[in-house]
Amino acid sequence: MNDLIFSDSFINGEFYQTNSRFSVDDPATEQSIVDVSDIDEQGVKNAITAAKGAFVKLKATNATERSDTLMRWYELVIKHKQTLATLMTKEQGKPLKESLGEIDYGAGFIKWFAEQAKRSYGDVIPATDNSHRLTSFKQPIGVVAGITPWNFPVAMVTRKVAPAYAAGCSFILKPSEHTPLCAIALAYLADQAGFVKGAFNVLVSQNAKDVGKMLTDSEVVRKFTFTGSTGVGKQLLSQCASTIKRTSMELGGNAPFIIFDNADIDDAIDGLMAAKFRNSGQACVAANRIFIQRNILNDVLEKITPKVAALKVANGFDENADIGPLIYPKAKEKVQQLIKDALDKGATLIGDNSNLGGSFQNPLIVTNVTTQMDIYHEEVFGPVLTVIPFDEESEVLALANDVPYGLAAYFYSQNIKQIYRISEGLEFGMVGVNEGVISNPVAPFGGVKQSGLGREGGHQGLDEYLEEKYVCIKV
Ligand code: ADP
Repeated sequence: MNDLIFSDSFINGEFYQTNSRFSVDDPATEQSIVDVSDIDEQGVKNAITAAKGAFVKLKATNATERSDTLMRWYELVIKHKQTLATLMTKEQGKPLKESLGEIDYGAGFIKWFAEQAKRSYGDVIPATDNSHRLTSFKQPIGVVAGITPWNFPVAMVTRKVAPAYAAGCSFILKPSEHTPLCAIALAYLADQAGFVKGAFNVLVSQNAKDVGKMLTDSEVVRKFTFTGSTGVGKQLLSQCASTIKRTSMELGGNAPFIIFDNADIDDAIDGLMAAKFRNSGQACVAANRIFIQRNILNDVLEKITPKVAALKVANGFDENADIGPLIYPKAKEKVQQLIKDALDKGATLIGDNSNLGGSFQNPLIVTNVTTQMDIYHEEVFGPVLTVIPFDEESEVLALANDVPYGLAAYFYSQNIKQIYRISEGLEFGMVGVNEGVISNPVAPFGGVKQSGLGREGGHQGLDEYLEEKYVCIKV
């Protein structure tokens, strides 16, 4: 158990094995790390029963106990930081330094919600006559089911499970079939920390559709939380309609990154490098459309081109790696298709697009991008920086907003009036001003429009797992 690699689902505090198995592969070497059990129907039913039983036990706990348990989980995650980060780089591919960063970030949600567990305050409402007392207080929703993606295999799990446990909800998680190992390790550590048995179950499956359907159809499951693509989110949202579940959806983005001509260009370039190339560009908040004011375009390109060329593409365990492999070969094919479409329609390529083999993709810049190109409308999810020149502030604001998504947006400006105008004008759930990395456990993360529903992190993140109860007492 020293490497925290487990190969089975985790239900009611125990490993659950099946005969059907599938391989979890290292995207850098394309070698199998381990064969994991594929959950069967009975396993899903067991998890629902376990979570239902755990919810009853959780009702008998108080906020301080849950807070203490979460704090022990946090400490265990930090204690095993190196092991978990190694596991993450193995199954996800990101450079080890980024995996270590994600463990800190992911653990940060556990610590934050350990603190917030004690703060689910209600209201005392001034009565409208002398014979009544009106109060409202918060109670856990009940059994929660969640589905998470492969791009942040630890943080996407902790920012759902920690607030759920803080609120007093039990959880059934179906992690991505590409990165289930981090999720099982987290559940194992939560159990070691003293989680109520059955309060954190992990279902390992390569049949997301059927497992998802069983969870969304279940009347026991009262809340559904999903992070992933908008298409799958829409499908799950409609499935949740039959039982009127509470839902949280963290879906796709198409983040604009605007550099105005009064910006500190060196700062903007540093921010852009982080917002674009972290996790090889595989983040829903990754800068996707880079708008640069035309009179500084050449200056920015001259400065950023050598920085992009200097990024080292390598196995995430190479200590100099900046860009690991994409998650699987199909992801690279999609990036190549987007580049081809853009070049066919008149864009210009800067950089070396020769095939590096496997899922490795060289970082590139594509300039002269227009709204006619697929790369403008779709999330690239790869290390390709797409540049769209603009002239006027009003023009760029309209372009930035003219997409069905509204997750993260970034801009660089030193003009205080412009900072207010643009911050208020951007139709996005999160805005980075002179900053390219904005995610933080203490702040509300989430999108508007087709980027989703609800917020994770911040004090808002706890409310996602709580119902408000109004009590009217006649005295
Ligand atoms: P990506 O394309 O980035 O993998 P997805 O939205 O396809 O994003 O995947 C995110 C999560 O959703 C993963 O855990 C995946 O297994 C799961 N998933 C994919 N399709 C479905 C579906 N039809 N029903 C339920 N879950 C799904």
